[in-house]
Amino acid sequence: MSDTQSENQSQSSSETLNFQTEAKQLLQLMIHSLYSNREIFLRELISNASDAIDKLRFRAIEDASLLGDDADFRIDITFDKDAGTLTIADNGIGMTRDEVIAHLGTIAKSGTAEFLANLTGDQQSDSQLIGQFGVGFYSAFMVAKEVEVLTQSAAGGDGVRWRSSGEDAYSLDVATDLPRGTQVILHLQEDATEYAEDARLRHIVTRYSDHIGVPVRVFSTPGYGASEDEEFVPELEAVNSAQALWTRSRSEVGDEEYKEFYKHVSNDFEDPLNWSHNRVEGKFEYTSLLYLPKRAPFDLYNRELPKGLKLYVQRVFIMDDADQFLPLYLRFVKGVIDSNDLPLNVSREILQQDERVTSIRNAVTKRVLSMLEDMAKKDPEQYQAFWKEFGEVIKEGAGEDFANRQAIMKLLRFASTHGGNSDKTASLADYLERKKEDQESIYYICAETYETASRSPHLEIFKDKGVEVLLMFDRIDEWLMSSLSEFEGVPFVDVMRGDVTLPGESKPEEDNEDSDAEEHPLTERIQAVIGEKVEGVRPSKRLTDSPACLVLSDYGVGIQMRKILEASGQSMPETKPFFEFNAEHPLLHRLDTEQDEDRFAELVELLFDQASLAEGGTLQDPATYVSRMNRLLMDLLPANEA
Ligand code: ADP
Ligand code: MG
Repeated sequence: MSDTQSENQSQSSSETLNFQTEAKQLLQLMIHSLYSNREIFLRELISNASDAIDKLRFRAIEDASLLGDDADFRIDITFDKDAGTLTIADNGIGMTRDEVIAHLGTIAKSGTAEFLANLTGDQQSDSQLIGQFGVGFYSAFMVAKEVEVLTQSAAGGDGVRWRSSGEDAYSLDVATDLPRGTQVILHLQEDATEYAEDARLRHIVTRYSDHIGVPVRVFSTPGYGASEDEEFVPELEAVNSAQALWTRSRSEVGDEEYKEFYKHVSNDFEDPLNWSHNRVEGKFEYTSLLYLPKRAPFDLYNRELPKGLKLYVQRVFIMDDADQFLPLYLRFVKGVIDSNDLPLNVSREILQQDERVTSIRNAVTKRVLSMLEDMAKKDPEQYQAFWKEFGEVIKEGAGEDFANRQAIMKLLRFASTHGGNSDKTASLADYLERKKEDQESIYYICAETYETASRSPHLEIFKDKGVEVLLMFDRIDEWLMSSLSEFEGVPFVDVMRGDVTLPGESKPEEDNEDSDAEEHPLTERIQAVIGEKVEGVRPSKRLTDSPACLVLSDYGVGIQMRKILEASGQSMPETKPFFEFNAEHPLLHRLDTEQDEDRFAELVELLFDQASLAEGGTLQDPATYVSRMNRLLMDLLPANEA
């Protein structure tokens, strides 16, 4: 994607390439918005070095020759105070020229352009957004005026020298005699020389990178790798504990360490919300360390979102984003699985069918669900924060995961008429606890927004009688409710549908359902006007204040679902609603006495359109509605004197 500036394509001479537009934008933002916490650049570079070592270790399983005579993996951080340079060197997999261009010159992550479009220019909120995007390699430019990368791929070929001052372009040269792996050399900015100091570096490494599974060593030396002074023997002591964090026992690992490790595996900038670390022994042995993020990624609904856990087999890194260990609806969970039983050469294809994987996945799913249930019990506030971010995805689970449906239903939260605002949510258990003694249903309503739901005329009688109704307004709710029938034996009832039965009333019998409808004189007159548009007309039991409302049949597609399906280009079979009128309403009393049939028809049409508007529907013919409304207004207003 980068365009070549230099005409000279010769491999041996220098070439200047432009950063991909997105990369350039992100780089600029990074430098300017994350400035307040710039020491994290070191964490990012160490994290990359550790990933590079993991990758080589994995490749060497099949081809040990890749290791050559250097199998002692390590990350060395050296500095030269006088020169103002800091070097992070690894003996990992390295990069070829093409890889350097692809990884350091572009951002491959899907959705980057949309992401950038979401930035506001406000530093604080932007820095949070960038944080969830993952800061990565470019964070080096927060402290460096120039970054140099020397890298030699383990696969052989020429070494590469990449250089940039973080503006529009970078240069590439061939570099020879490099040791295997990558050296990132930072030419520190004048105000960042503190990062060329032993104590400061050790402190940062201990703080952010203690969990890294290979030794991270800090020492002062001129010219690592290309050292002319062969005699120079620095003090080679690892600063970190160099033991993969998840292999340690829970009691040994501090919260801060867990949090830093999370940032390493997730690329998240913020602390996790919660985590669960478990060693499982039995039929299959594995360790899982699962994290819940604080915030949903901006691309949670992107199908190509990389998801899943980091997979290790007997401590050896195998792959990122192993999505076979989690159901789709838990795609936001981050962490590590380390299995003792899977073969080292396991592939994604094998993972897909392996019974060990299925068994781990089932266990991990239960683990996450019980972690959530625990959180909901012990820390409702934290759970509420979680729910706000991920509730919609958990709802997918309630619809899809039959085996765990009962557990997932306990996790669901809904706004309700009891709460008074959209943030006050209730669990289904809360609802059952509050329900009336003679109440045999869990009542709910689906609409497009909280406001539409909470003010719907369909709720009037429920409010009147103090019966709680769950208010649903997430896009997914109607789909969800179409797959749930009951909770703890109590059926769900959509108050917008069918002939609702209120607590204490007996269910109307099938065959006399329409009996009282036929008794009302207005039924037939109204039917004559809007009969084409509706399934039927009947007096309502739902309404106390509004004159009329529309009611779906038990199986008709609701408005929310209809809008979603229509937006996705599907044609919908027309399902007609019932028109219910409030026979006690003064407007209907007047209507009853209206002798002029034309005027009667006009008023009924208006009531019909209003009922449709009140439930968030769209009018088929808004222009006619407006002109009818205006005629009515003209009748009401006194004529001008002149
Ligand atoms: P991320 O680590 O999330 O992929 P980064 O911006 O940190 O994003 O790094 C971009 C890519 O550059 C990495 O995915 C990797 O392919 C490559 N890379 C960075 N540092 C190294 C390194 N030390 N050795 C090999 N490859 C590296
Ligand atoms: Mg990285």
